[in-house]
Amino acid sequence: MSKRPVITVIGSINMDMVTVTDSVPVQGETIIGERFATVPGGKGANQAVAAARLGGKVQFIGRVGEDAIGKQLMNTLQQEGISINGVEPVTHTGSGTATIIVSNGDNRIIVVPGANKEVTPDYVRKYHDSILSSDLVLLQFEIPLETVKYCLNLCSEHGISVILNPAPARALDAYDWKKAAYITPNETEAKELFSEQQARDRELDEKLIITMGEGGVKFINEGAVHHAPAYNVKAVDTTGAGDTFNGALAVALAENKPLPEAVAFANGAAALSVQRFGAQGGMPTREELNDFFT
Ligand code: ATP
Repeated sequence: MSKRPVITVIGSINMDMVTVTDSVPVQGETIIGERFATVPGGKGANQAVAAARLGGKVQFIGRVGEDAIGKQLMNTLQQEGISINGVEPVTHTGSGTATIIVSNGDNRIIVVPGANKEVTPDYVRKYHDSILSSDLVLLQFEIPLETVKYCLNLCSEHGISVILNPAPARALDAYDWKKAAYITPNETEAKELFSEQQARDRELDEKLIITMGEGGVKFINEGAVHHAPAYNVKAVDTTGAGDTFNGALAVALAENKPLPEAVAFANGAAALSVQRFGAQGGMPTREELNDFFT
């Protein structure tokens, strides 16, 4: 395809601060840990990076703090060729962070949304023109719910397709869910959000693309239930598999690939991502994905 599809991601950006330690301190205790690393993340940013590496012309609408972390997060997006015209630093609060303590193969995580809370409907309204110039919009639930609803309304009014990745799981009315072209829960989110509706609401059912880890992907196309098995690969780190899947699906659908082909494309991209460490670190380029399919 000669023209790169324009994909707008309206979502979260975080810095993951990862400390690896043999033991975890109790209240009031100080200990010496093993290693520390900062890793850019946030579902919005991750999905934007996945889409950009696979050939999407990606514009990001989100917020960071006016701090060193915010600058670093913006640089990371820019280095991936993502437009950050829609990322304005917030002065009164810090960048979103996830403090992750990894110990003995287990983890403890504290997420502070910070500036991500400032992705309000009023903020997004300033970027109407960018949103309305998109071939497709990608949303998740790490920004205020009222903003997600606002974007769903705006896009449905203007005939712009939305992929809604309902993570972390939050409830919407059937009326709002139906404004999305596709909804992409993982198995746990699907159970929590749709198990009751599924039996009785065909229209909603047909929008669901359910990712099931190494169990692959379930979706309905032209009235028939499809199950695309996951590719048989050696997984070393599945962090960000879902984000890679969503970014890739956005590119494929924005390129007008038929749904089964778009799911295969995303399934392949996610299979490549689990073979490398890190969320953004594991995301493949278009060339790598093309090689995987040949
Ligand atoms: P995460 O939260 O880790 O980003 P998720 O729970 O949102 O992931 P999953 O359903 O676990 O999403 O995985 C998304 C997709 O990634 C799967 O549908 C599949 O295409 C691919 N995938 C995940 N794990 C594997 C695996 N072990 N082997 C091959 N593909 C995988």
